[in-house]
Amino acid sequence: MNRFFVSSAALAALLATTLPAHTEIDVIGLKKTIETSLASDYPKLDALYKDLHAHPELAFQEVKTAARLAAEMRALGFEVTENVGKTGLVAIYKNGDGPTIMVRTELDGLPMEEKTGLDYASRDKANWNGREVFVAHSCGHDIHMASWVGTAKTLLGLKDQWRGTLMFIAQPAEEIVAGARAMIVQGLFTRFPVPDAAFALHDGPFSHGTIFYRSGVGTSAADGLEITFHGRGGHGSAPHTTVDPVAIAARFIVDVQGVISREKDPTEFGVVTIGAIHGGTAGNIIPDTVQLSGTIRSFKPEVRAKLHAGIERTAKAAAAMSGAPAPDIWIAEGTKPVMNDPDVVAATAEALKTAFGDKVRASPPGTASEDFSEFASAGVPSMMFNIGVYDQERIDAARNGGPPIPSNHSPQFAPVPKPTIETGVTAMTLAVISAFDRKGRRKLER
Ligand SMILES: [Zn+2]
Ligand SMILES: [Zn+2]
Repeated sequence: MNRFFVSSAALAALLATTLPAHTEIDVIGLKKTIETSLASDYPKLDALYKDLHAHPELAFQEVKTAARLAAEMRALGFEVTENVGKTGLVAIYKNGDGPTIMVRTELDGLPMEEKTGLDYASRDKANWNGREVFVAHSCGHDIHMASWVGTAKTLLGLKDQWRGTLMFIAQPAEEIVAGARAMIVQGLFTRFPVPDAAFALHDGPFSHGTIFYRSGVGTSAADGLEITFHGRGGHGSAPHTTVDPVAIAARFIVDVQGVISREKDPTEFGVVTIGAIHGGTAGNIIPDTVQLSGTIRSFKPEVRAKLHAGIERTAKAAAAMSGAPAPDIWIAEGTKPVMNDPDVVAATAEALKTAFGDKVRASPPGTASEDFSEFASAGVPSMMFNIGVYDQERIDAARNGGPPIPSNHSPQFAPVPKPTIETGVTAMTLAVISAFDRKGRRKLER
């Protein structure tokens, strides 16, 4: 048939037979199929989760973790490329013509001691900035990895439900917001396809089965802050012969909160936290220098710029008040907010609500940060959603004055694996299939 003479009715018929309309995706039927396949797959995912949990690795050191995931994905039939962004990996699976959908997991744990008392708790140690430290998966990236492998397996079992390319990536160094950029710099979107949509999930301290999502800004921008105040050391009994950098640092730490309370629009989000202060050795010695480390969080670029300028001005003024030399100020631009694409979110949320009902809820943006933002910044329509990890009874008990719920990064953070991973796999599989359907139709319509 001469394609220039296809009538619009014939084209509509052709489209209708090629891919189902969005409303024709049988979400409830799919959910049942996913649950059936999970019932037989879960024991393996549980073993994978507990092994990853017991043996976490730090940012850009995730060699064994990446090798483990690479082996899992190769066994499923994915084509795996390792060492993309140092320890990152890219796993590709082609299933005919169609869009490319990306699913990300993180690989890294945290430099902290786990205190959950679980029989699969981590006792592993590693080198972190020249010190030996405990390592723990206290952010739940092990939940994400098990859900990622489970989603890949489930999608292959549902191959007749979608056409296109799966691009499963395992990203290193999320906790230092450096791994996503490292993967992009090392060719994520030049050596591999540019995805039509990208998804990630993150666990959080609420009840399992619950899913939170947000359109637009989902997380904060995060920038690092390092300041060295210079003084002139001397005897603690003779401060007049010195310039005291401890007093300067103390003044700065208090005064910089004025940037938040007096300079920033009070209706806009912004945080400056000084999380570390190092200076001096003994009570009777005024040191030469004091170092501060902090973090700066914001949602909007104009607030971010205002905080940077205010911090710098306050630090210089604190030093000048004591007649000290200008401080060294280093603001390390970290990552931007995660921007959840409104179209991807609207369609995905619709599918998730059909599957999970009122357990799927829109939420306000989180104040934490995530370098999943790098993929949206590179032009990929993206969505990150959150899944809960605790039994509802435990949440209710905390609300009624019981033990508080440990959040991510707490040494007590302990997800209930089975329902959490099952929700992760089911929700992510539905998100990906609904994106294949939608983006596939758009490609045909173009
Ligand atoms: Zn974290
Ligand atoms: Zn995390």
